[in-house]
Amino acid sequence: MSSVKATYADILLPLAIRQTYTYLLPVPFSNTAKPGMRVVVQLGPRKLYTGIIYSIHQQQPTHPVKPVLEVLDNEPGVTQQQLSFWDWLSGYYMCSIGEVMNAALPAGLKLASESHIIASSTPPEWDTLSDHEFLLMEALEHQDELSVQDAAKILDLQNPLRIIHKLIDHGMVSLEENIKDTQRAKTFILVSLAQDFTESQLNNHFESLKRAPKQSAVLLAYFKLKGAYRAGLVPQDELLKSASATKSTLNGLVEKGIFNIQESLSPPEGNNNTIQLNLSPAQKKAQIEIKSGFAANKPVLLHGITGSGKTEIYISLLKEALTKHKRALYLVPEIALTTQLIDRLRLHFGEQVIIYHSRISQGERLSAYKRLLSEEKPLLLLGARSALLLPLPDLGLVVIDEEHDPSFKQQDPAPRYHARDSAVVLANFANCPILLGSATPSAESYHNAQSERFLLCTLNERYGGVHLPEMEVVDIRRETLWKTMKGHYSPKLIEEIQQTIAAGKKAILFQNRRGYSPIIQCETCGHTQECPNCDITLTYHKYANKLTCHYCGHTEKTLSACPKCGSTALNEKGFGTEKLEEELQTLLPDVTVARLDFDSTRRKNAFSKIIGQFGAGDIDVLIGTQMVTKGLDFDDVTLVGILSADSMLHYPDFRAQERAFQLMEQVAGRAGRRAERGRVTIQTYRPDHRVIEAVVKHDYEKMIAQQLQEREVFRYPPFVRLIQLELRHRDKNTLDAAAHHFASALVNQLGERVLGPEYPPISRMKNVYRKRILLKLERELSAPKVKAFIWQVHDALILQKPFKGVRVVFDVDPY
Ligand code: ADP
Ligand code: ZN
Ligand code: ZN
Repeated sequence: MSSVKATYADILLPLAIRQTYTYLLPVPFSNTAKPGMRVVVQLGPRKLYTGIIYSIHQQQPTHPVKPVLEVLDNEPGVTQQQLSFWDWLSGYYMCSIGEVMNAALPAGLKLASESHIIASSTPPEWDTLSDHEFLLMEALEHQDELSVQDAAKILDLQNPLRIIHKLIDHGMVSLEENIKDTQRAKTFILVSLAQDFTESQLNNHFESLKRAPKQSAVLLAYFKLKGAYRAGLVPQDELLKSASATKSTLNGLVEKGIFNIQESLSPPEGNNNTIQLNLSPAQKKAQIEIKSGFAANKPVLLHGITGSGKTEIYISLLKEALTKHKRALYLVPEIALTTQLIDRLRLHFGEQVIIYHSRISQGERLSAYKRLLSEEKPLLLLGARSALLLPLPDLGLVVIDEEHDPSFKQQDPAPRYHARDSAVVLANFANCPILLGSATPSAESYHNAQSERFLLCTLNERYGGVHLPEMEVVDIRRETLWKTMKGHYSPKLIEEIQQTIAAGKKAILFQNRRGYSPIIQCETCGHTQECPNCDITLTYHKYANKLTCHYCGHTEKTLSACPKCGSTALNEKGFGTEKLEEELQTLLPDVTVARLDFDSTRRKNAFSKIIGQFGAGDIDVLIGTQMVTKGLDFDDVTLVGILSADSMLHYPDFRAQERAFQLMEQVAGRAGRRAERGRVTIQTYRPDHRVIEAVVKHDYEKMIAQQLQEREVFRYPPFVRLIQLELRHRDKNTLDAAAHHFASALVNQLGERVLGPEYPPISRMKNVYRKRILLKLERELSAPKVKAFIWQVHDALILQKPFKGVRVVFDVDPY
């Protein structure tokens, strides 16, 4: 008797388990299900998950399996290309595909038993709801949130996920987020003429507005802007800004029947053709070179000094890709994603631009994902790191701007991937060209260019012929000796700031946050207050009068006396942006100072607000961390001050000097981008340090040559491959034993390529101890083989009783 073979599906679950799980795919699902579709499955005795079908087959598993409970999609929600790429990422970066999937899918696509739902701010259309949907929405009228279990009870269903997904898809509910912001989808207010006026009608209107100069100005501004927008739909904000008018003036014109106002979910469409790009001869030449690299199937590295017009070159290449009806991906570091860049792209690409980064809401993320999956027209995806994991069929170009930026590497949680390196692989999968750009390329990419894996294209002049800023070094060792420092400001820097403001210009001051936020130290015995959970000194936050741990969030009140010796002579040591702001305000009370850092930009939109005020001239001096080093493009910033170059130079990391150069050169590049040449003042204890000397001469080539030479001698990337293993456990002895055991097992095969185990600089975090093993592998060694061996050692280790609960975190190519 022949029986019909049963169908099975291997399912990806959003968990840190390395394998997929096999489920039975019952009829009728087996007829229609495809890889990439979402399903609901049960794991363990009662947990429900939304998973993704990874593959479908008829190999009967050796153990009994549960059935798939639901197939949620009619079309795959994840493309085959995404699945293959995720697969590659998980193999290369030694994590589970579930973890990649978790990073890739917006929250609304991955419900699980532990999810909670909340109602959106838009009220539901009650009469369109099914009975089940009605019950849930009604429950949400009375409760702020519902868990999946609550939903199951209310509906008297074991599996309520399908209904919840429906409500999410229709924008009626969303998953609860840690940061509770209202889930309203962003809308755009657009202004257009109330009707197609004839010329004489228009003249009449202008005539009648003679007595209303403000309204007249709005109408004039409208005609100035109209041409740039499709169907004359001009964004209200822009219109009001351009006419310096208020909403009520505009309302007056609406009442007079001149304007119409409408709300739209999609952003205004630019009249793409009206905006001409005229590349300079140098830009044109670069563009031709870039294309020759594309033609030779090579990734291209564009090394163009700050302000050389790299962005304009990207735009022109992106245009070409979209004209060929392809999609394009434009990746930038998270904090370079300013409204400035977004506005610039919208001007050219209108609503073809899709934005994706961590500061957009869940709803916006979901809608971006869906547009990418379903829209047929060419799209430009502008995003941070994780945009790489989204559906990108028909990819025609990838651009990675600021490719040297360390934030392209994800630190925590897994997948700990490097978006630049992974993008090169994705481009290869998709058979599409890729362009990496930077004013200060990473040692890795520069080395790739030198060894001809990448094509190097150099752009050595600024657009418009402006010179790179003039650099000046202030020796604060000497100033301190002479006691001329005012707080952390040298007389020279103060003078420069005063002159800049007097000339009606603006200044940016940069202080690297890393390790240099203020701490409180006892002058008598040297005691500093440490976090009870982590091996680190607490940071002093003056405005809140609190001591805080930046790793676990532990907070305590500021001490009035030393707990060790009772002395009240407590001193602030080190300095962060907050301290600098306060000092400058005291030194120059008439100057408007603002701060741009992690603390000042916590609230939603705070970042763009500060940038907006700075652009509008409401702020004279912007003091900030790395946030001020990227992407800012203001005409009238003529001074940049670097408060302490030394903290960057002495960080214990083989990339510290390369990074110090990059940061200083980038922030210097914010100065004098237009008509007037800018000035940069660097304060340092080591004016003769070779990195400082290279920055002063803007000599990237020399700096990178030195760095690469040292890395070759001391065997660091890009000449070797690094894999870091971090073992974690609450008990120090268990951890020590496990780390020793793990390292010895590795040494057996890999010999002196194994370094450690050693405690990292912060050996305890949130009461968990950590120890690291570093592998230095020559490039010729087969990475897949080594990784398989590491897994083998890992799996054997964690099964041993004494090592129960030891967690191993892999970091491939650590940054
Ligand atoms: P980069 O990205 O290399 O730092 P940008 O692309 O931001 O440089 O260019 C610097 C400035 O010069 C910007 O304000 C930009 O608008 C302007 N610019 C660059 N190229 C052109 C061009 N071809 N036409 C007009 N303006 C340009
Ligand atoms: Zn003391
Ligand atoms: Zn802590």
